[in-house]
Amino acid sequence: MSNLCGHRGFAGPSACILKRGHGGAHSYGNWNDALIREEREELESLRQQLASCQAALADTEALEIGTGERLAKVEQQLAAAIAACKLKDESIEAAHNGLRWWMDAFPLHVTEADNEEMLKLVKALTIHPDDSALKAWLEMSNTADCRSQSSLQGVVK
Ligand SMILES: [Zn+2]
Repeated sequence: MSNLCGHRGFAGPSACILKRGHGGAHSYGNWNDALIREEREELESLRQQLASCQAALADTEALEIGTGERLAKVEQQLAAAIAACKLKDESIEAAHNGLRWWMDAFPLHVTEADNEEMLKLVKALTIHPDDSALKAWLEMSNTADCRSQSSLQGVVK
């Protein structure tokens, strides 16, 4: 519906082309031209709204892509850190087993320093990074796209 006054003072194509509810005298002009101009202005306004909606949508998509990339990077760092921890566990275990073997084979040569070293190794073997939250998160995201998590699932058992 037009927002123009449309008051017809004369017979013919002319009518008041001022806004509906305007004050003062009517201003008669070409009614069809006025309607077309009004339509064009409305179209232009809609076009601008659409453009700003598209811009906002593009921003949102860019933000989501950025978040996904950051998340993938954090996952990789986390996987690498956990893998490094597992590797250290293996080294400590090897050292522990070696010292254990030596202490059992040559009990008379075992010194206080050997016993202290053994205690340190045993203590080190009991320390594990808390990856329970990570495991829960991996299970939770199993239903979602888990291509990026598959590398982690190999590490976290
Ligand atoms: Zn009028």
